[in-house]
Amino acid sequence: MATTPALSAPSAGASFEKTTIDRRELRGEDVQIEISYCGICHSDVHQARDEWGGSIFPMVPGHEIAGVVTAVGPEVGRFSVGDRVGVGCMVDSCGECEYCVAGEEQFCVKGNVQTYNGREYDGTPTYGGYSRQIVVKDRFVVAIPESIELADAAPLLCAGITTYVPLKHWRVGKGTKVAVVGMGGLGHVGVQIAAAMGAEVTVLSQTLSKKEDGLRFGAKEYYATSERETFKKLRSSFDLILNTVSANLDLDAYLRLLRVDGTLVTVGAPPTPDKVQAFSLIAGRRSLAGSAIGGLPDTQEMLDFCAEHGVRPAIELIAAEAVDGAYDRVVSSDVRYRFVIDATTIG
Ligand code: NAP
Ligand code: ZN
Repeated sequence: MATTPALSAPSAGASFEKTTIDRRELRGEDVQIEISYCGICHSDVHQARDEWGGSIFPMVPGHEIAGVVTAVGPEVGRFSVGDRVGVGCMVDSCGECEYCVAGEEQFCVKGNVQTYNGREYDGTPTYGGYSRQIVVKDRFVVAIPESIELADAAPLLCAGITTYVPLKHWRVGKGTKVAVVGMGGLGHVGVQIAAAMGAEVTVLSQTLSKKEDGLRFGAKEYYATSERETFKKLRSSFDLILNTVSANLDLDAYLRLLRVDGTLVTVGAPPTPDKVQAFSLIAGRRSLAGSAIGGLPDTQEMLDFCAEHGVRPAIELIAAEAVDGAYDRVVSSDVRYRFVIDATTIG
């Protein structure tokens, strides 16, 4: 076992503390990674504050991990020491069920092993990227293209894949009208990816305060949802609405913005249930859907797509000491647009 510095939340909502954790000895298929950067996802906040229930403490969050390979097990063929690599939201899955075979490990029938706040199949709790080093099975490691800086790559490992997959699945392309609701960590990457896929993108944000940024990220239009007029004006406008909001929304109001056969896909994961009127779906044969992160082949494809199309998150690099304050800023929608921890400040 190797001991490594980490940032840990001892209990729900408690401040982060510097501590050390143990990482397992390298197994045959394992890759040891020195973590350079880790993004802060709103899911980290939901879980560290136990908003979804069932959180495991102490917790070392972090599933947007970018770093450099420092050792590999004897069965690892895809990576060598010195490679620039990433790890996202999963670190294991059964590898045998129909979804794992299809490269959709997020839907593993046995249940995938989450990078943190999860348990390995032998019951050991998992600890994430707010640390200096991690050991991960090679299947769950992706290569970071040369043209993407490690700090920029980190947020793509969750915010990137979570927005890329639904846009790909619902066949967004030239001529598709897409609305992205919420321009935070996920949203600002989603806008860029949808635009790069050729879609006509509209941002629906609470206010117009980030309009210039939204247009720079590739949106054609930008509306404030705090203005009632927005919902009148945009009625029956979109083929796909990507909802990245971490809180409950008036989904009926958003469903009415869809064209016939349009889909509202939610990736935002508020802790409390949403309500939907059947008529909002019946009228216009609309669909309400969800999407969860993405499998490993899609994660590599997404990174290569971002490299090719110049999709880069806008990040605010912070030290370990600033994580508590960053969480408060994420919750108050005061993030421009992803906090990334410089792992060298952890210890
Ligand atoms: P984030 O950076 O906080 O962005 C969320 C954005 O939603 C905010 O920036 C804000 O955008 C908008 N918003 C927040 N509160 C709102 C409210 N009360 N009403 C309307 N809009 C509001 O969060 P994130 O990291 O992008 O994550 C977003 C959600 O996705 C979280 O719930 C997270 O757990 C979930 N998530 C899901 C998956 C998945 O696999 N499905 C993966 C990762 C994350 P504006 O200021 O533009 O309004
Ligand atoms: Zn995430």
